[in-house]
Amino acid sequence: MNDHTAAGRTGETGVTGRTAGRTALITGVTGQDGSYLAELLLSKGYTVHGLIRRSSSFNTERLDHIYQGPQEPGRTLVLHHADLSDGVALVNLLRDLCPDEVYNLGAQSHVRVSFDAPLYTGDVTGMGSLRLLEAIRASGVETRIYQASSSEMFGSTPPPQNERTPFHPRSPYGCAKVFGYWATVNYREAYDLFAVNGILFNHESPRRGETFVTRKITRAVARIKAGLQDRLYLGNLDAVRDWGYAPEYVDAMWRMLQCDEPDDYVVATGQAATVRQFVETAFAAVDLDWNEYIRFDPKYERPAEVDALIGDAAKAESLLGWTPQVRWPELARIMVEADCARLDAELAGTAVRIDR
Ligand code: NDP
Ligand code: GDP
Repeated sequence: MNDHTAAGRTGETGVTGRTAGRTALITGVTGQDGSYLAELLLSKGYTVHGLIRRSSSFNTERLDHIYQGPQEPGRTLVLHHADLSDGVALVNLLRDLCPDEVYNLGAQSHVRVSFDAPLYTGDVTGMGSLRLLEAIRASGVETRIYQASSSEMFGSTPPPQNERTPFHPRSPYGCAKVFGYWATVNYREAYDLFAVNGILFNHESPRRGETFVTRKITRAVARIKAGLQDRLYLGNLDAVRDWGYAPEYVDAMWRMLQCDEPDDYVVATGQAATVRQFVETAFAAVDLDWNEYIRFDPKYERPAEVDALIGDAAKAESLLGWTPQVRWPELARIMVEADCARLDAELAGTAVRIDR
């Protein structure tokens, strides 16, 4: 099962090709990235196991189009209840599944919320990654692990940021991700575990959570265009972000686990914009003037802000053969289009599919 050495290299990128018959475990499978990654791995012939947490309502909307019921024979997508706060459940899951690859995407992932729930964020986003690493070690399973590290770790260190840029996190979320990053490096060095950090810059899509700024904007654009809303309240419009397209970023995650040696990589487009520019482009996509609708609410400001994140992904480009295609202006248009289509379908009472 864990026959990584048999996989041949596909040339200079160092990324191997043989994947059919492999198994992967994804934490955070119900999230934006988890759903795209599950699709990608299924398309490569993997059996995908997803860790989901118990919720009082359905939390699998992003997976509905690939969901396979428990009674379906030969299932290749299997969901398991567990939680990153429950170390014993993680050990049991690892021991039962013996996955070839583990992707740790689960997290309390919202920066603003991390100021309201700092200890919870530290526990799930920081300690959760250590629990998973320790579960791998304790279960004795031979596997490879991807840790979802974040550009938020760079915080106030000015751009451009790459793998050698010092960390200076500006939120409990950023601090928790720094902990997860170093825990991953430590397990690589201490136990020879194939453990990698993907330091991903902001990446978005029609499946982005509704309270992240891009999706909040594109969802509001659709509603304003349809006459359902006449104001959008935002915080700091001057922040600069390097926004990429999530389906491309999950491909980079997979590539990192196919290399001969474990290492850490920045994943970014290298092109950035202010929140204001994203707003302007999103409103212009439906011929609206953003100035008429945007209002400021200090509620959306953070106690400490990350002013500018612009990534230098040269290492990923040369060693993983990964290059971004979609830049932020096209991304804004993709997201506006998807939110308009989704709203149209909702208003028409037809089923809504989020398969983009
Ligand atoms: P989302 O917020 O969309 O998804 C987070 C996932 O984590 C959800 O599946 C959520 O479950 C799950 N989760 C939350 N708490 C727990 C817990 N206690 N135990 C198990 N699972 C839990 O995030 P993204 O998909 O956007 O991001 C994926 C990862 O990448 C995250 O770790 C994020 O911090 C990191 N990252 C994201 C970036 C981005 O721009 N998107 C940039 C850099 C890093 P539920 O659906 O039930 O809430
Ligand atoms: P982050 O980079 O992980 O914090 O991603 P977000 O999408 O949450 O925020 C990106 C930037 O947008 C940050 O600098 C925020 O301060 C800024 N921003 C401005 N207004 C808002 C808002 O209303 N909601 C969010 N989430 N961010 C906002």
